[in-house]
Amino acid sequence: MPSSGYAELRPSLLEDGQMPGHMLNAFCLCGFDREMHVGSSIADLSSGVGATCICYTADGKDLITASEKDIQEHGLEKIDNPFLSDDPLSPRQGIYDGYRCPVCGRNTMSLTQVGFWD
Ligand SMILES: [Zn+2]
Repeated sequence: MPSSGYAELRPSLLEDGQMPGHMLNAFCLCGFDREMHVGSSIADLSSGVGATCICYTADGKDLITASEKDIQEHGLEKIDNPFLSDDPLSPRQGIYDGYRCPVCGRNTMSLTQVGFWD
């Protein structure tokens, strides 16, 4: 398992059942570079909106973030957050690549975690 460097970024107020918000960077060799905020704030969870996820736009030409509810309603293609693990205090780390880039269409887009939000 890739390790370390992120320990100081662990959310401090996380309680059972709450998902941390992750700041991810989507990057492709073609120049596509996008910071995306996924996960849930406590307000999102209590309002029933659900977690924010990364998905492709309906035409597949861009990446956006949307609630799970919106993604389902609009039939969008979702990218599961690879940094979520069963233990929210030990998020997976490293670089995940092989995602389809919305700009060049190749499977050369990677996701890295750059921090947390809440
Ligand atoms: Zn690309």
